[in-house]
Amino acid sequence: MTVLPYILLAMSSETEKAQTAKPGGDTIFGKIARKEIPCEFLYEDDQCVAFNDVSPQAPSHFLVIPKKPITQLSVAEDADEQLLGHLLLVAKKVAAQCGLKEGYRLVINDGALGGQSVYHLHIHVMSGRQMGWPPG
Ligand code: AMP
Repeated sequence: MTVLPYILLAMSSETEKAQTAKPGGDTIFGKIARKEIPCEFLYEDDQCVAFNDVSPQAPSHFLVIPKKPITQLSVAEDADEQLLGHLLLVAKKVAAQCGLKEGYRLVINDGALGGQSVYHLHIHVMSGRQMGWPPG
């Protein structure tokens, strides 16, 4: 049995979501950050949380999101400089905590062409398999 059709199906449905998703309003990640829906955090501090992606694209795949509801990187402001740097440092700390010693990939999807489906800024951290380049 080949898994390719399933991978292609998953890819097309993610792309479809990204093409129809729109910024604005509350999101699932806002609810997670405010603890309005249950989620097991890998990490939490006053500025952000990290948790596993519900549909992992690699053996390890977690997300780091700010508690501040910034919809996407392209609308982040100069005032968010400290927060954006903090998210990167948390990504590397959680990667180390998860034992990702062989490397990992960080991804921030922005907007429809970037493939963003949830309009609450998030950093994907993926590892556990060889990443390809260019990305799809
Ligand atoms: P993006 O396409 O960059 O906006 O990524 C959104 C990511 O959020 C996808 O990888 C989804 O699998 C993931 N996701 C959506 N809902 C949840 C959830 N409730 N918990 C964890 N991850 C989620």
